[in-house]
Amino acid sequence: MPYVFHDVDVSEEARARIAEVGGRRVRIPTVEIDGELLVDPPLDQLLSRLGIDAADRRPYYDAVIVVGGPTGLTAAMYTSRESLDTLVLERAGVGGQAAITQIIENFPGFDEGIGGAEFVARLHRQAEKFGAEVMQGEEVAGVRREGQFLVVATVNRREIVTRAVLVATGSRYREMGIPGE
Ligand SMILES: Cc1cc2nc3c(=O)[nH]c(=O)nc-3n(C[C@H](O)[C@H](O)[C@H](O)COP(=O)(O)OP(=O)(O)OC[C@H]3O[C@@H](n4cnc5c(N)ncnc54)[C@H](O)[C@@H]3O)c2cc1C
Repeated sequence: MPYVFHDVDVSEEARARIAEVGGRRVRIPTVEIDGELLVDPPLDQLLSRLGIDAADRRPYYDAVIVVGGPTGLTAAMYTSRESLDTLVLERAGVGGQAAITQIIENFPGFDEGIGGAEFVARLHRQAEKFGAEVMQGEEVAGVRREGQFLVVATVNRREIVTRAVLVATGSRYREMGIPGE
């Protein structure tokens, strides 16, 4: 939940706002949600006001990246580097088409080219270095909205709750059905 924290020990403005609500007695935490003030609310009241089901034990990530090709892994590197809890779901092994490329000759900075498998392994390590979790063998079957959250469902009947989904399912070669193609 994104929120702004005001510390009554250091902020004159925060103390004044609390005094407006509670009179002379400072009671913290005071939580303001869409203009409504809750003074030292019990946890169940807070969860209910935020629309969170406390019995929901499904894992939560700030961002779920559908697939682990070069696009997905690069995105995961950036989101996790910004401290967003990130999960990458890949139906096969990471790397996408790049994993089956013998040598990539046009990647900027690699003047002698780089093997596809090595490139992918490096991307994978780099994303995990910043904290991204990568799940392989997990095919995404669908995404649905539940209130302010998104639920990502996989073919293996796993459900993940998140705020943001990035889909980077890449492309595959269409075959024409010609003998010997
Ligand atoms: C033989 C070959 C050689 C190539 N050589 C070069 C080259 O030299 N230079 C160059 O620039 N480019 C090259 N390319 C192209 C390059 O590999 C692609 O542009 C690049 O991989 C695209 O990355 P991507 O992450 O967008 O998609 P992809 O690599 O296509 O990855 C998509 C991923 O999505 C996964 N996926 C799809 N649907 C789901 C789902 N529902 N749930 C979970 N996962 C899912 C797939 O398993 C796959 O791993 C080559 C491609 C091939 C095949």
